[in-house]
Amino acid sequence: MKYNKLIFDLSTPGRTGYRLPPLDVEEKELSDLLPKEILNEEELDLPEVSEVDVIRHYTNLSNLNFGLDTGFYPLGSCTMKYNPKINEDMASLAGMTAIHPMQDIDEVQGALQVLYDAQKYLCEVAGMDYMTLQPAAGAHGEITAIMVMKKYLEDQGETQRNEIIVPDSAHGTNPATAVMAGFKVVEVKSNEMGRVDVEDLKKVVSDKTAGLMLTNPNTLGLFETDMKEIADIVHDAGGLLYYDGANANAILGQVRPGDMGFDAIHFNVHKTFSTPHGGGGPGTGPVGVKAFLKDYLPKPIVEKDGDNYYLDYDIKHSIGRVKDFNGHFGIYIRGLAYIMAMGHDGLKLASSLAVLNANYLQHELKDHYKLAVDDICKHEFVLAGLKDDADGQLTTNDVAKRLLDKGYHPPTVYFPLIVPEALMIEPTETESKQTLDSFIKAMKEIAEEAKEDIDILLEAPHNAPVRRPDETKAAKDLILTYQKGE
Ligand SMILES: *Cc1c(COP(=O)(O)O)cnc(C)c1O
Repeated sequence: MKYNKLIFDLSTPGRTGYRLPPLDVEEKELSDLLPKEILNEEELDLPEVSEVDVIRHYTNLSNLNFGLDTGFYPLGSCTMKYNPKINEDMASLAGMTAIHPMQDIDEVQGALQVLYDAQKYLCEVAGMDYMTLQPAAGAHGEITAIMVMKKYLEDQGETQRNEIIVPDSAHGTNPATAVMAGFKVVEVKSNEMGRVDVEDLKKVVSDKTAGLMLTNPNTLGLFETDMKEIADIVHDAGGLLYYDGANANAILGQVRPGDMGFDAIHFNVHKTFSTPHGGGGPGTGPVGVKAFLKDYLPKPIVEKDGDNYYLDYDIKHSIGRVKDFNGHFGIYIRGLAYIMAMGHDGLKLASSLAVLNANYLQHELKDHYKLAVDDICKHEFVLAGLKDDADGQLTTNDVAKRLLDKGYHPPTVYFPLIVPEALMIEPTETESKQTLDSFIKAMKEIAEEAKEDIDILLEAPHNAPVRRPDETKAAKDLILTYQKGE
């Protein structure tokens, strides 16, 4: 649908969308009430519209938005999973919303229980001992955890450890985090099966290694088969292991990072534990650690004494605060509601189905698209362009744009960086076979169009309000004001 009007375009002089009750006080001039110098002399140029105009305008605009509630959204690495609406009900209960973080601890015991239970359950899923709920997103969790690791190593007298190892397939936030925390980034290569190259890892570890940041399954959606060896190599060299939990939707209830050898982790609660997200928020990135790192966590953490919940500020070597109060409370309500409703068996079923759905799509698409790595995947997989790409004239960008015409949100494109023409697909567990089959059909139609009429792809999308913007300019050169008459 095309709809590109501004509310000003609908304005008709004299039209109103409101009616005020009769005045029951004495009428006064504004200039009698306010100092003259702060009054505006000119008429304000506001849109004059009826109530129906306003409703239709904003409803039409909202229809331009594509969200999980409108259609299939297989955005790999971001885990756009279904957000059960009961989570929203829980988060909007008056007992959750009509409280203030400065209130007396005795008055907000229920809220502290939410946080305490969130800590406990997230620790259980992660195989960690303690958890801070402060970080506001995954990337924020990364920097929090790496600072915790840094301070721990300093206290051990290991100040020479100034390198963080990051796989070449890593999410960009990993090297960025390491640099922000004052480390040098050392890259470890992936092997031809898309996993960490263990021989290369042996070469890059040393007494300068502070740690390894790893996503497992990794950004190709592949489980690190040499996990134990990787953990041993890093630990034997005196480094720590950090788990980027963005892909935890593949392992919920199956295997725990703590049991894989990781010392610290973050979860992206908004990805894995079903909070609506996208476009930059809201999120939260709690960090879990093994007991030996507890004394370095941001403070406070929520503790329990008998039946009483309290905030524990007694964290001796704490790196300090990384966020006001206790982090994004509302997201933990949603995450907790999700975990409690699912239970262990439910979480395990969710990850099983997420993996099954991804493998089904991969299997059905691999005759038409190149695979980055031809192997059983976890919750997502990466394509490497069309098999028949009209001698390189067609790119993944064209496929993604054409998917818009067919009613789908395109998967993640051009990530991870080590895969040329990457298209990363993550269906998640809640999509039906019918939805997956329709998506497969659309992807196969695109592959056919690529053989028959490449212009359809090169000119896609054909029915979107904006078609092919200069993506850099659209992101960097925003036009946020409306000049009337232009
Ligand atoms: C999403 C993601 C992050 C960053 O998480 P945010 O919550 O967006 O800050 C880090 N690593 C990986 C692998 C991710 O997919």
